[in-house]
Amino acid sequence: MTKPAAIRAVKGFRDVLPEECRRWQAIEEAAAATFVRHGFGEIRLPVLERTELFARSLGESTDVVEKEMYTFVDRDETTVTLRPEATASVVRAYLESGLAQSDPTAQLFYRGPMFRRERPQKGRYRQFYQIGAEVLGREDTLADAELLVMLARILAAVAARGVRLELNSVGDAACRPAYTERLREFGRRHLAELCGDCHRRLERNPLRLFDCKIETCRAVIADAPRIVDALCAPCRAHLDDVRALLDGAGVEYVMNPRLVRGLDYYVRTAFELVADGLGAQNAVGGGGRYDGLVAALGGPPIAGVGFALGLERLASVSELVAEDAGPAAVVLPLDPAGVAPGLRLATRLRDQGLAIGLEPSGRSLKALLRVADRRRARLAIIVGEDELAQGRATVRDLVRHEDRRHALALDAPGPELARFVRAFLETPA
Ligand code: AMP
Repeated sequence: MTKPAAIRAVKGFRDVLPEECRRWQAIEEAAAATFVRHGFGEIRLPVLERTELFARSLGESTDVVEKEMYTFVDRDETTVTLRPEATASVVRAYLESGLAQSDPTAQLFYRGPMFRRERPQKGRYRQFYQIGAEVLGREDTLADAELLVMLARILAAVAARGVRLELNSVGDAACRPAYTERLREFGRRHLAELCGDCHRRLERNPLRLFDCKIETCRAVIADAPRIVDALCAPCRAHLDDVRALLDGAGVEYVMNPRLVRGLDYYVRTAFELVADGLGAQNAVGGGGRYDGLVAALGGPPIAGVGFALGLERLASVSELVAEDAGPAAVVLPLDPAGVAPGLRLATRLRDQGLAIGLEPSGRSLKALLRVADRRRARLAIIVGEDELAQGRATVRDLVRHEDRRHALALDAPGPELARFVRAFLETPA
């Protein structure tokens, strides 16, 4: 028979192995604790939504909707999409659950995988993870500022290095259309110098000109009119107020007049976290205000502001260390007769909150001790023939290389066993 070929993961999809997972957990826990301290509640959302949700919320002419969504027709003919982001889902859930009526101001956070069919490269995957937060029902500038203060606290909590907060205002329905027109006129005057993609952007959504990564385009766009110079009085006041609150709170940021968010529903506050040293994929997170979104999704005119952090990229700038201490002890049954008592012993210790390894019998003591060492355990609890006869296990301190023969009664109650093991852990190696 021919050996079946190994099956590989789908391109752009990857596994997160325990070592990386430990770092992710540390980051997620630090973020979640910060959210909770700021009064945010967690929401768990489906990964599959009706395609219409994203088409309507992100805007038909965005890159995400045009070419990056995983969309398919389900067996019942519904067209569904693996979520490319979560803000639209949060708003859908907020409306669908009745929260919008019962408690219009909501502060929610989420974490989980997102799916975009982008060209995979370092720091860019087709399934990636986000941690994000949304504040609904708040038009006031304090909501924007507090969200950004919280974001800064998260970055501090995960020891993120070399990340700066960039801030801008993208105006609103009162001032953006006139600005967009000026930008379009500007682009048309420089048509010959712009790439094909920019030609398309110019007609469909001129703000996207700022997203172009091509050097020659960027050189042209550097001289384009700036939206911060075209804000109406309320948008100007909103920006000034947010900045004053951030300054007062000691949050560092830089104004970036060319910062626009890729999605249509943003108004006023727009921001991005940018990391030096991450190469082309240097955005660690981003967000902003989306006052028109709830209404666009069929709800009342309710304001919103939020952000999303990319977990892979946050992890790559985080200096948080997630220690893998290894188990406190490894139980080593030498013969088959020791297996059942070994399992009972390990279970009682684990119930006391200790990390305990357990090895199958059938190898020499020497081989088993090597395994315990490799797992970086402090103790080996040896259950051999002699120990079974006595009803007491031998305990070896793997750091000090000391044996205590028959030191541990196999049928002792859990707390007594745990006290014994912990006494070792507390004595310096
Ligand atoms: P966005 O919704 O595009 O602003 O994305 C928010 C954050 O998610 C970005 O700043 C990135 O950190 C992260 N992100 C977006 N797309 C990807 C991707 N394809 N792979 C990895 N991270 C991503």
